[in-house]
Amino acid sequence: MNKNGIGRHIVFTGVPGCGKGTQARILKDKLSIPHLSTGEMLRAEAAKGTPLGLEIKALLNNGGFATDEMIIDMVSKRIDEPDCAHGFILDGFPRTLPQAEALDKLLADRGISLDAVIEIQVPDEIIMERILGRYACMKCGAGYHDKFQKPKIYGVCDVCGGMDFYRRLDDNRTTVQKRLINYRALTYPTIPYFEKKGLLRCVDGTGTIEAVSKKIDSILGIA
Ligand SMILES: [Zn+2]
Repeated sequence: MNKNGIGRHIVFTGVPGCGKGTQARILKDKLSIPHLSTGEMLRAEAAKGTPLGLEIKALLNNGGFATDEMIIDMVSKRIDEPDCAHGFILDGFPRTLPQAEALDKLLADRGISLDAVIEIQVPDEIIMERILGRYACMKCGAGYHDKFQKPKIYGVCDVCGGMDFYRRLDDNRTTVQKRLINYRALTYPTIPYFEKKGLLRCVDGTGTIEAVSKKIDSILGIA
């Protein structure tokens, strides 16, 4: 909330692949506040092909992360945009303890306090299964999964009838393992940090998207 008691300011956290992006997008529509994904902001920058963009691209392709400074600067500018006046959902930020401390300062400077930090908990082996099984239609981009979301007809896209599919290069075991190790080392220290502030809310992320979404609504008191 901000100093006038309006707005929602929520952080989603959890291991890469826990479903926080999906849940943030669902919540964004319910609350009519923007979903700020640092991953998307970084990919947009990388796509521009600027020197910073190329540096980011190299980092992301190796399963690494942009520096705290780059990210904090990016978020700081973004939350001052008019669409954030009534709140926002942060996804992928803060990723490190220094980022969490910087977020406190950014918010305090603006008279804002966080409503909740929602940690979506999913065991590593389930993350691996989710990520390694996913693929998409070459033609329309529709997403599928070897186990959880097969096309109705084998090898044919439900949406456009396309018959060519692809898997993301970074959806491989080595890169995913690297991301999980990075999470433990870099992001996990932010969990007790937020817990001490009384902001941490943990959600079991192993159910269906709808089930997880319902749990989040009840935590936030959304009818
Ligand atoms: Zn398709």
